[in-house]
Amino acid sequence: MSKCKCGNQARPGQRTCPECHATYMREWRQRKPVLSRMEMEDGQIEEILEAASCIEGDIIKLDGLDGAVVGIADGFNFEGEVLAYSTAKIVNILMERDGMDYDEAVEFFDFNIRGLGVPGAPVFIRD
Ligand SMILES: [Zn+2]
Repeated sequence: MSKCKCGNQARPGQRTCPECHATYMREWRQRKPVLSRMEMEDGQIEEILEAASCIEGDIIKLDGLDGAVVGIADGFNFEGEVLAYSTAKIVNILMERDGMDYDEAVEFFDFNIRGLGVPGAPVFIRD
């Protein structure tokens, strides 16, 4: 039997020991993409952002999160129109681009993104 990189005995026919494999699986699960139900077509995000740039009044665009844009929202509760983002896609971007695990990404989203209490702040779809 071969040895794991940590020095322990590797599992039969494998290169890692049970402990290292369990650690790897835990990390893998946390980095696995969160499923979003919001499928976008090619160019659709660019179209939405272009339309949003023509809207008068306050409309906040989140830096570095264009990939999570899913539309423009309006309604009874809104003063004007705002951008709509996919929560799942934001969490995925934070995990993939910034190396956060799932819990860190959700916490960052809650405190630093969703809590943005300014006029024209986006809405976040729970997808
Ligand atoms: Zn090991």
